Amino acid sequence: MKNHIFNQLFEFETGREGFFGEFGGAYIPEILHETIAELCEAFEMVRKDNSFWEEYIDLMSSYSCRPTPITFCENLTEYCGGANIFLKREDLNHTGAHKANNVMGQGLLVKRMGKKRVIAETGAGQHGVATATMAARLGLDCTIYMGAEDVARQRPNVFWMEQLGASVVAVEDGTATLKDAINAAMRDWADSMENTHYALGTVCGPHPFPLMVTWFQSIIGTEAHQQMQDKIGQLPDQVIACVGGGSNASGIFSGFLDEQNVELIGVEAGGEGTNSGLHATRIASGQGHIGVAQGYKTYFLQDNEGQMKDTHSVSAGLDYIGVGPILAYLHSEGRVRFESATDKEVIEAFKIMVKNEGVIPALESTHAIVHALKEAKLMGKDKNILVNLSGRGDKDIFTIADALKDKKWNAFLKSKVEGFS
Ligand SMILES: *Cc1c(COP(=O)(O)O)cnc(C)c1O
Repeated sequence: MKNHIFNQLFEFETGREGFFGEFGGAYIPEILHETIAELCEAFEMVRKDNSFWEEYIDLMSSYSCRPTPITFCENLTEYCGGANIFLKREDLNHTGAHKANNVMGQGLLVKRMGKKRVIAETGAGQHGVATATMAARLGLDCTIYMGAEDVARQRPNVFWMEQLGASVVAVEDGTATLKDAINAAMRDWADSMENTHYALGTVCGPHPFPLMVTWFQSIIGTEAHQQMQDKIGQLPDQVIACVGGGSNASGIFSGFLDEQNVELIGVEAGGEGTNSGLHATRIASGQGHIGVAQGYKTYFLQDNEGQMKDTHSVSAGLDYIGVGPILAYLHSEGRVRFESATDKEVIEAFKIMVKNEGVIPALESTHAIVHALKEAKLMGKDKNILVNLSGRGDKDIFTIADALKDKKWNAFLKSKVEGFS
C-alpha cells in the first residue's frame, strides 16, 4: 500500500523548514544541530525510498497485526439512536496502542542510520514499553528515562521494560515527572549522539519529529480511508480522535485531509472542567498561548510569564502542556475542530463502551468516544462516524478501579502495587 495521500502534508511546509504556518520549527541548542541535521537527511532519504516503506509495512503486518480492522459498533449505534459508529482498532497493535507504528518505524530508520542504541522518555510508560519492545526485536541497546514519581506509580510498565532488556533511569530532578525525563533524555543525547537515536514518542519536539512521526502514523489514515470505502462504499462524515501530543489524531486525519466533506475532530483532556485549572485543553478551551518550549513552537498551557502550567487528566497519555504543530496549523486553517471531554464523562463513556461492545478502550481513546456519543445522537441514521480507538484499556485498571470506587478491587490492587492511590 502506498502512502500517497500523505504527500499533501509535506506541501503544507511553508518556506522555512519544519514550519507549518507559524507553528513547528527546530529551536534546539547548538550542540544538537549536527544530529538533528543528520536525522533530517536520513528521513529525507527514506521517505523517497519505496523499499523503506515496503519494509515498514512488512514488519507492521507480520509483527503488529496491521492492517488493524474497522469494527462497526452495532449496539452503541442503537444506544445513541443516530449516526453509525465505527472504530479503527489501533488497540489491536502489538503492545496495545498506535505507539507501535511510530516506534517500529523509527527503529527501522535507526538501523539504516547504523546506530546501535535508542533512548526515549516516558510518562505513564506506554511509549517506554513500545520502545523497549522495538529495541528487543531489532537488537538495539535501550535506555528509558522516566521521572522517579512515575517509576513509583507505574510499576508494571517498569517491570516489563526491564524484562525486555531496557535500562530504566529514574529521574529525580525537578518534579520527577515527564518534563524532567525529557530533559534528562536530551542531556544523554547531547553526549551520545554518535551512536544513539532519541525516539520521540509523539508529533511534538523539533523538526523533523512532528513530520516524521506523522508519516509513520499515517498508516492508520491510509488504511482507514480504503477500509471505509470497502465496508460502506463511502467515506465517514466525521473522524474523531483524542489529542495528547497528537500522534494518533495526526495519523488518522492524514488519510482524510483532502476530503473536504469529512469533518475532522480532535478531543483534548477536559480533566475536571476547563474552568477548573485542572485540565490539558490547549486549543479547545482557548487557554493555550503560542510559545516556544521543548524545541518547537505551538500552543502551550503557560502563564503570562511563559511558565508552563501544571496539567491534569485522568488519562496519563493526554496529560501534556503542548500540542503537535501540524494539528495547531490545521486548526488555524479551520480544517480540524477541537473539543474536550471531562474525566467524569470519560468514566461514564468507558462503562457504556465496555458493556455494549465488549471492547475495553484506553482512557485516552475514551475521550474520542465521549464526543462520538454526543455527535451520533445529533446526527441522522444515514450518517457515519469513525473513531480512532488509539489503545486498549488494560493498563488503566488501577485508575478505573479507583474512579469506580470499587472497594473490593481497590483493596486488592492496593495490596499488590506500591504507589497505587
Ligand atoms: C500515548 C497515547 C495517546 C496520546 O498520544 P497522542 O500522541 O496524542 O496520540 C493516546 N492514546 C493512547 C492509547 C496512548 O497510549
